[in-house]
Amino acid sequence: MTRTVVLASNNAKKLAELQRILAPLVPDVQVLGLSDVADYPEPAETEPTFEGNALIKARACLEATGLPSLADDSGLCVDALNGMPGVLSARWSGVPRSEPGGGAGPGAARETRDAANNRLLLSQLSEVPPERRTATFVAVVAFCTPDGQEHVVRGEMPGRILPAEQGEGGFGYDPLFAADGYDVSTAELAPTEKDAISHRGRALTQVAPLVARALGD
Ligand code: IMP
Repeated sequence: MTRTVVLASNNAKKLAELQRILAPLVPDVQVLGLSDVADYPEPAETEPTFEGNALIKARACLEATGLPSLADDSGLCVDALNGMPGVLSARWSGVPRSEPGGGAGPGAARETRDAANNRLLLSQLSEVPPERRTATFVAVVAFCTPDGQEHVVRGEMPGRILPAEQGEGGFGYDPLFAADGYDVSTAELAPTEKDAISHRGRALTQVAPLVARALGD
């Protein structure tokens, strides 16, 4: 029985987060990312829901690798923007996901895109008072296994959008988001502190027993 699962993502920080969360719950599991498996055409995220897009990505990964496959789709839902950017979070400012970022590598491209997204979100909320800046990070994780099982779980982290960026850690909208009960942004939390309350941490904690079962534990 293989102890290997694949996370259908090129995001090294998401991969590290999954490894941190699965390691204590699924002993000896090996978690691969897309850069560890043979290239395959990644599907477009065409669904209007996190659930639909997570399933598209996990199914494509299973088909290409034959290995138990996890995929997450996540984003930030801002109440004052009627739940947007939602499934459009990664490309909210119009900078495409695979943009080479002016010739820089993929990590730098992501930082460029994150900075543009954060600037746009701040400007969209510039007239919105603190009490109406509520928002929720959502993560949906799909898990598809070679025997045809499909599981979908959802985690949420409620909070608010800060008036300016705070902190250097995390990624994406983290410098602009403070979770309920916190004065600091999620970019100022230690990785394990964020895992304990994060949308992705909550979704992955739910999926871990399903991974353990699929691996025969
Ligand atoms: P995905 O890769 O399609 O799931 O896109 C998720 C996007 O939502 C990311 O590019 C970020 O902009 C945002 N996002 C999701 N989770 C987080 C998080 O934990 N911190 C900050 N931004 C996040």
